[in-house]
Amino acid sequence: MKILVTGGAGFIGSAVVRLAISRGHEVVNVDALTYAACLANLDSVSDNPGYSFEHVDIRDRDALNAVFAKHEPDAVMHLAAESHVDRSIDGPADFIETNIQGTFNMLEAARSYWTAKGKPEGFRFHHISTDEVFGSLGAEGLFTEDTPYDPRSPYSASKASSDHLVNAWHETYGLPVVLTNCSNNYGPYHFPEKLVPVVILNALAGKAIPIYGKGDNVRDWLYVEDHADALLLAMEKGEIGRSYNIGGENERTNLELVESLLSILDDKRPKADGSSYKDQITFVADRPGHDQRYAIDPTRIRNELGWRPSVTVEQGLELTVQWYLDNEDWWQALLDRKGVGERLGVKA
Ligand code: NAD
Repeated sequence: MKILVTGGAGFIGSAVVRLAISRGHEVVNVDALTYAACLANLDSVSDNPGYSFEHVDIRDRDALNAVFAKHEPDAVMHLAAESHVDRSIDGPADFIETNIQGTFNMLEAARSYWTAKGKPEGFRFHHISTDEVFGSLGAEGLFTEDTPYDPRSPYSASKASSDHLVNAWHETYGLPVVLTNCSNNYGPYHFPEKLVPVVILNALAGKAIPIYGKGDNVRDWLYVEDHADALLLAMEKGEIGRSYNIGGENERTNLELVESLLSILDDKRPKADGSSYKDQITFVADRPGHDQRYAIDPTRIRNELGWRPSVTVEQGLELTVQWYLDNEDWWQALLDRKGVGERLGVKA
């Protein structure tokens, strides 16, 4: 298939592009190259004849129309978004413009292209979303596809809005959409503003390792390459108009996750003085409106599409730490980007 991937220079998008190319698909990567993008994520595929790049902002509807007309994709996988909750607290406008207006532009560009083509049956518009649209869980329960939406941050509210638009374009115009909502990802090429890379890089730099609040917020962690695999499966085999929750069934408190990462680092790169990286853990003021717990019930994608993650969280964290130890050039080049290394999201 020829797949138009938006946000392919980001963390998850680049994993999707690499996997799609390795499976013989053609990929057109549409990315505005914001602060979160890194074209080096695509070095392994950039010379592949099946890969092409369009430096386009999804807020620019005319440019999107031109991309559809030029490349004539068989499917769209829409990942481009502002993705960092802390940045959404300090500056929500970008989230409204890219995540809501940008998704509207993508839907309209896809709809006019699909209509002009005679509404081919195989066409898919796959919208990639987050479990954060469902809000915050107490100690019990899991998010299913039927859980009511209850977003609580500017980021999750903008993603929830985009999900509603996607469903409306299916119901109203018949656009063949598939929607996925995934839990927290981790793995190679994770931009160094998110928890997992911050922990690894601060540990290596001998800096304080910040934990929000008491570190008791619970997330359900999934290795990014397993997410990419689930996404390609949903795009190829998902039922039109259906949504699929994707999660690793690996719930950890933030403190447990951080301690696991630091134990792996203690083994792989012991400190010269024999102390543990865990001594660098520092508890800091909590994120405003910090959701307490997310947990996904992935029964639907498992039973209907046969998806299973390939690694446990222990294996995935080990692979991730090793990747950051082996790829210092990649992350060193990102440390001077705006906001990296700063505490964001406390302006509320
Ligand atoms: P990311 O921030 O690493 O990458 C986002 C990419 O989108 C970047 O390459 C950026 O340049 C591009 N982009 C941003 N605004 C754009 C615009 N206006 N026009 C074109 N390109 C633009 O994000 P990620 O973590 O890879 O997340 C990708 C998608 O997956 C997002 O839609 C996010 O909501 C969703 N998601 C993420 C997670 C997670 O744990 N990271 C979990 C579930 C769902």
